[in-house]
Amino acid sequence: MPNDSLPDLAVRMEPLPYEARLEQRPLSQVDLVVMHCTELPDLATARAYGERVLYDATGTGNSGHFYIDRDGSVHRYVSPHYVAHHTRGYNPRAVGIELVNAGRYPDWLDSRRQAMDEAYPDVQIAALIALLRELQIEIPSLRCIAGHEDLDTGEVEASDDAALRVPRKRDPGPLFPWARVLDAISLQRLDVGCS
Ligand SMILES: [Zn+2]
Repeated sequence: MPNDSLPDLAVRMEPLPYEARLEQRPLSQVDLVVMHCTELPDLATARAYGERVLYDATGTGNSGHFYIDRDGSVHRYVSPHYVAHHTRGYNPRAVGIELVNAGRYPDWLDSRRQAMDEAYPDVQIAALIALLRELQIEIPSLRCIAGHEDLDTGEVEASDDAALRVPRKRDPGPLFPWARVLDAISLQRLDVGCS
């Protein structure tokens, strides 16, 4: 097991049962942080989703690496030394951070329920900034940050009306404080020239 603790931040190490079955990678191939929100009611539900085995060949599923609860507690489900499944097309180079937030839950694809109106508490964003600063030290190759919604722009049929289309992913959504976060770190947002 790689030794990669984060000494200056109280990260709770809570590896998913299948962590060791995920693909390993050198940290030097990681240059991107992808910001997500869980679109689920609470951390316990997010954990249950993360533990679900969806890929029978490898016995693994979908999750971020880190989860930050509304109270600012930081939980590591997957070490950055492993490729987690959280953003189609970007996983080998990315660390995924999930903020607990209801998002569109429970009607993710209902055209009438696309607002994401739960604010991110200050303490949750402060913990995110502390984690990002620590990751920049631990992973010197990190350069870019993006929202899941920036990287997965697909649309799907709305669940309430087949004639309508809604975004597959909207997280972290319009209430995520991009300016505050970008001011506090030295990563560049992917859509403004970080490649
Ligand atoms: Zn996401």
